[in-house]
Amino acid sequence: MNEDFKVGLPSEGKPWDVIIVGSGPAAFSAAIYTTRGDAPTLILGGENWGGQLMLTTKVDNYAGFPEGVDGPELMDRMRKQAERFGAKFEHSFVTKVDFSSKPFKLFTGEKEYLAKSVLIATGAETKWLGVSGEKELIGRGVSSCAPCDAPFFKNRKVAVIGGGDSAMEEAMVLSKYASEVTVIHRRDAFKASATMQAKVLNNPKIKVIWNTEVQEVKGLPAGGQGTGKVEGLVLKNSQTGQTSDFQVDGVFVAIGHRPESHIFEGQIELDEKGFVKISGGHGKTSVPGVFVAGDVMDPHYKQAITSAGSGCAAALDMLSYLAG
Ligand code: NAP
Repeated sequence: MNEDFKVGLPSEGKPWDVIIVGSGPAAFSAAIYTTRGDAPTLILGGENWGGQLMLTTKVDNYAGFPEGVDGPELMDRMRKQAERFGAKFEHSFVTKVDFSSKPFKLFTGEKEYLAKSVLIATGAETKWLGVSGEKELIGRGVSSCAPCDAPFFKNRKVAVIGGGDSAMEEAMVLSKYASEVTVIHRRDAFKASATMQAKVLNNPKIKVIWNTEVQEVKGLPAGGQGTGKVEGLVLKNSQTGQTSDFQVDGVFVAIGHRPESHIFEGQIELDEKGFVKISGGHGKTSVPGVFVAGDVMDPHYKQAITSAGSGCAAALDMLSYLAG
């Protein structure tokens, strides 16, 4: 296809071939493919567009950037690439959808949009502990992604919070870099699968503190004290009520993700945690013509590059669907 190719817009009152809800790597990667497939494409990207990468500093694990790239810059580049081929971007937030008949209807407040096919790429939100110091120190020692940030903690002490498979996986990744990894769990037993638990419990670099909750992440510069980087945690034993200080350089919160899928409830099938269910093949939902990609359907990998890949796959399936 020629470099200057730009897909057209639908005529007045006619449906878009593709409407994408969301604006992370899945959304833009899909738009690059649908526009280049000659399908007029609208991205309803939300007011705070760009998804989780807009909150990240350096991204070192997205292929093609040997020196790393800042999260917001990566998103800006993806958006420009999609717009280059004619994707239209609106900063609108979808509040309601109606997938009961075709064309599909999407609403942003009072405004209605029509689509022959829809891609749900709304992502997921990391669940945070909600304790003092945590939000302020994200990117300064607080993280939710060991594959992204573990190399920054070479020979340092880190804690992982949680007792599910994600916490086990984060601890295993971190154990390759950190001098000491401590998993801190609020109960006396992990929720993770037996195999994942065994890996963690048999790893000499990983210790576990049971029955313990995090009360505070220390390091905020308060009254001249604090470095602005994680210095430690205040822990509370849930059985004795005793509090203690625990020195760490990094804390990885791995207590789950919340998929951004509530506006699709009752319209397509979701699983018990709210992730969009795949029905009958890659990126297909329970409604033919409605597709899904990225973290909103993926409780497992949750990486920018896997989201982008799933966006590409969904877009190719959408083009086949549109071609009949
Ligand atoms: P999860 O299974 O929901 O586990 C969340 C963990 O965090 C639980 O241990 C929970 O404690 C704890 N937790 C929740 N809220 C907390 C809070 N406010 N304070 C302290 N601890 C809190 O989530 P996940 O580990 O992200 O896994 C999600 C899904 O992906 C699961 O189905 C999992 O099997 C899958 N997954 C699989 C793999 C793999 O197979 N390699 C890897 C990652 C994820 P409680 O135990 O007390 O509830």
